[in-house]
This record gives sequence, structure tokens and C-alpha cells, in this order.
Amino acid sequence: MGIEKDKSLLPYNSFHIEARAEHFVSITNEDQLKEILEKEAGKAILVLGGGSNILFTKDVKGWVLKMDIGGIEEIKEDEQHVYVRAGAGENWHSFVLYSISRNWAGLENLSLIPGNVGAAPIQNIGAYGVELKDVFYELQAYDRKNRKVYTFGLNDCAFGYRDSFFKSAEKNRYIILNVTFVLNKVPVLNTSYGAIRAELEQMEVRTPSIRSVSQAVINIRKSKLPDPAEVGNAGSFFKNPVVDQQLFLSLSKAFPDMPAYPHEEGSVKLAAGWLIEQCGWKGYRKGDAGVHQLQSLVLVNYGHATGKEIFDLGEAVAGSVKKKFGVVLEREVNVW
Ligand code: FAD
Ligand code: NAP
Repeated sequence: MGIEKDKSLLPYNSFHIEARAEHFVSITNEDQLKEILEKEAGKAILVLGGGSNILFTKDVKGWVLKMDIGGIEEIKEDEQHVYVRAGAGENWHSFVLYSISRNWAGLENLSLIPGNVGAAPIQNIGAYGVELKDVFYELQAYDRKNRKVYTFGLNDCAFGYRDSFFKSAEKNRYIILNVTFVLNKVPVLNTSYGAIRAELEQMEVRTPSIRSVSQAVINIRKSKLPDPAEVGNAGSFFKNPVVDQQLFLSLSKAFPDMPAYPHEEGSVKLAAGWLIEQCGWKGYRKGDAGVHQLQSLVLVNYGHATGKEIFDLGEAVAGSVKKKFGVVLEREVNVW
């Protein structure tokens, strides 16, 4: 097992923040994981996937466990579904493309999301009207407290809007080893988001397929979102806020152009990007920390910003949204 000391985490986070790990190890199987955890009980541990949803504000005085457990396996099928297990270290988008190439449907709207399979359940990744929970069957995770591997079904994970049991109630307790997905043999396409329909039209696609929907999503994302390879970012810095009817009604009276979408149990989802833009932050830059010029929900590192500078910018942005709209923005990004 190759253990590295005092390792730079710069290549391992999409914000490109310089932070150091006291110990760093790539975990490629369950036994390695158990060995480290048993030997190093009590030390700080950060479990890392692709590093695309994390902001380092300090060094890791302990262990970074880079989850590199690979493997994709079809475990069973029935008339309508195929059940596929992927190791935590598989790249998410490669897994999406692998499934599409076999005509397994359900993941197409989640194309081009950075990161790895193991982190996908953590915030129940979602895009264009589809969430991980819609294709989730079960996962296996190592429990750091009881030192055992458990299997979690759909009802055990408390999946919510960019949230799960693993991100809230039991943050940092479980280490996800693999995830099993239930994919459809006969596609049920979701083109409810206007941007997908418009892109399909642009592509002159009359009869959409999982391939064309995936391609449409890829095209939209490439045109709108900063590529972390070019400018450091972790996608949406905040979740879209979900508010009750009362607050929504008073806000829509004061701001008739405000975008809003019906959410669960009569609540309403607002577009955080729009709220931030209305506060004048779009394209803002101070030093190397900024708010992206096309999508205000994305904070960016133009070069050498520190995690603290990005964090402070996030606090200032959230503060002004609270002041102008009375709406609290919750961070989506995980802060270390
Ligand atoms: P990391 O950043 O490595 O980790 C994220 C969190 O999960 C950390 O707290 C980490 O400790 C924990 N973790 C990681 N692996 C494991 C594991 N095996 N077991 C237990 N805990 C673990 N997200 C969306 O939901 N929808 C989007 O459309 C989307 N678009 C994005 C676009 C861009 C340009 C970027 C940069 C990010 C985007 N994201 C999006 C956020 C991010 O891609 C997802 O949250 C992704 O699932 C993070 O995966 P990761 O492997 O990089 O996780
Ligand atoms: P957008 O299309 O400009 O829309 C702005 C917001 O409005 C989105 O965040 C979306 O909420 C909501 N929305 C738009 N149409 C909707 C509909 N028909 N029904 C319900 N809600 C609707 O958003 P965007 O920034 O380009 O992102 C497109 C998609 O990719 C979104 O689903 C977004 O979540 C996802 N994305 C996520 C990240 C991340 O890091 N989490 C980064 C980039 C993109 P939802 O966010 O709830 O879908």
C-alpha cells in the first residue's frame, strides 16, 4: 500500500486549492481500507473521491483516503431492469457512458457530472429533473463506528434535495464502497427542463433517445459551466433554497420576475443563481476569488485563491441574499 506523507492536495480538488495531507493513500480494496482504519483509529480522516465538491480551508492533519475501488458488474436482471454495481472509485461520467453504450437507461440526464460513483449518493446528485435516488438500488458502506460493512437500500438513505443520511445525520461515519443501480431496458426519457428540449431542437433531434438526451446535456453543460480543468470551481456552491408558500407569495409580489418551481409538499424551490445575481454578484472578482460570469451559483478560483478567500466570498454572497430576500442559502459544497 503506497502511503505518502505531507502530500499536496492541489491536484485532487477541482477548486485547485493548495492544502496538504499529513498522510495520503489510494484505497483500491476493502481490506486496505480496514487495515488503515484499524491502525489509525482516532486520527482525522477525510474520504476523497474526485474532489469536485470540496473546499479545503485548512490542511488535513491525519489521513486522506482516496477511494479508488474500481469495477462495474451486472449483478442481475429482470424483464424491464438491469441491476449494475459500480465501485466507489469509478468515474461517474464514464459509468454513465458505459451504461448508455449498453442501452441501459436512466442516467442520461446525469451526464458530465464530475466526480466518482462513491460520492454520488452523498448529496443525491441531481441535474435536469433526475436525481441519483431515481436509479438507486442499494449501496455497501463501511461503518467506522461499528467496524462492519452494511448494505443500505433506498429507504435507509434518507435521500433529499442534494442531501442524504450520509451528508447530514451520519456525516463522515460511513465510507461507501460500491453502489448498485437499477437501470431501465426500455427508456423513460425526462425532458422536462426547457434547456434540454431547446438543445434537442437545436440538434434537430425529432425522436429523442438516451444517447441524444445525454449529448444535449453534455452540450448545455459545456456551454454554461466553467470547466474545472480551466478554472477552479466545485459546481453550485449553494443549494437552491426551498421556501414555504407564505414567503414565496410575499417575494413574488415584490419580485414578479423571480423564477420559482413547485417542490415537495406545497413548498417552492427558488433559483439561488438568480437571487445571487440580483444582489449584483455576477462576474464579481476580488483577487483570484470570484463569482462566475455566466452562472452566479458557481464560485471560482481564478488561480491562487485560498480556501478561506473562497469561503469568505461565499459568506458575503449568502449574507447579501439573506438581507435582500430574507432567504437563507445553504452551502452545497463540503468544507474541510
Ligand atoms: P468529493 O468532492 O471527493 O467528495 C464529496 C463529499 O463526499 C466529501 O464530503 C467526501 O468526504 C465524501 N465522499 C466522497 N467519496 C466518498 C465515499 N466513497 N464514501 C463516503 N464519503 C465520500 N453535483 C450535482 O449534484 N449535480 C450537478 O449537476 C453537478 N454539477 C457539477 C459541475 C461542476 C463543474 C462541478 C465541479 C461539480 C458539480 N457537481 C454537481 C458537484 C459534484 O460533481 C458532485 O457532488 C459529485 O458527486 C462529487 O463527487 P466527488 O467524487 O468529486 O466527491
Ligand atoms: P438552469 O437551467 O439555469 O435553471 C436554474 C435553476 O432552476 C436550476 O438550478 C434548477 O433547479 C431550476 N429549474 C430549471 N428548470 C426547472 C424545471 N423545469 N423544474 C424544476 N426546476 C427547474 O440551471 P443550470 O445552472 O444551468 O443547471 C442545470 C442543471 O444542472 C440543474 O438541474 C442543476 O442542478 C444542475 N447543475 C448542478 C450543479 C451542482 O454543482 N450541483 C452544477 C451545475 C449544474 P435544480 O438545480 O433543482 O435542477
